[in-house]
Amino acid sequence: MLSLNLPHDRSAPLKVLCLGAHSDDIEIGCGGTILRLLSCYKNVEVTWVVFSSDKERGREARNSAELFLGQAKRKEIVVKDFRDGFFPFDGAKIKEIFERLKPVLPSLIFTHNRKDAHQDHRLMAELTWNTFRDHLILEYEILKYDGDMGQPSVFVALGSEVCQRKINYLMDAFQSQRAKRWFQKETFLSLMRLRGMECNAPSGYAEAFYCRKLVL
Ligand SMILES: [Zn+2]
Repeated sequence: MLSLNLPHDRSAPLKVLCLGAHSDDIEIGCGGTILRLLSCYKNVEVTWVVFSSDKERGREARNSAELFLGQAKRKEIVVKDFRDGFFPFDGAKIKEIFERLKPVLPSLIFTHNRKDAHQDHRLMAELTWNTFRDHLILEYEILKYDGDMGQPSVFVALGSEVCQRKINYLMDAFQSQRAKRWFQKETFLSLMRLRGMECNAPSGYAEAFYCRKLVL
């Protein structure tokens, strides 16, 4: 299969905007892809925005973002404290945050999937498309009890070393989540193995995204 790469003038920064409803969403959904991007492109500027947190999860989110963005040329980490599970009822305030992100002028945006079963995730996806009208948007997937896994169309093959780094960072950074039955190395690795199989990834591993609009 023909592989497409990001068209990128290496002298100009690649601006990436990562949007996550909850403290670990970005890492679970596209953490491996971010690590691969940062190893391939030396001039990457990342704006990383987490919308929901409490004191502990906010600290974890910042620590995790620092781990994942270690190779970024420039990074801005923003952690908000909207209430988990109540995003649709805080829509106006959340939309104001999106409006303030417009000047970032990102080349690439990672956000939630529009068809995600979690109401917070769906609102994030809707506001992303509502706010950014001339941008490449990739929607990541978050595995969950609800069982909403679909058929993503864009695959990023990941070396096994990158997968291990992603999982190690997740397990180290989010100690508060480790009691959850799904927050396990096997869960994260199995989804990447499945997506790797679907795209014939050389290593066997990949992350996958929904792309609703692509201009060649
Ligand atoms: Zn979430």
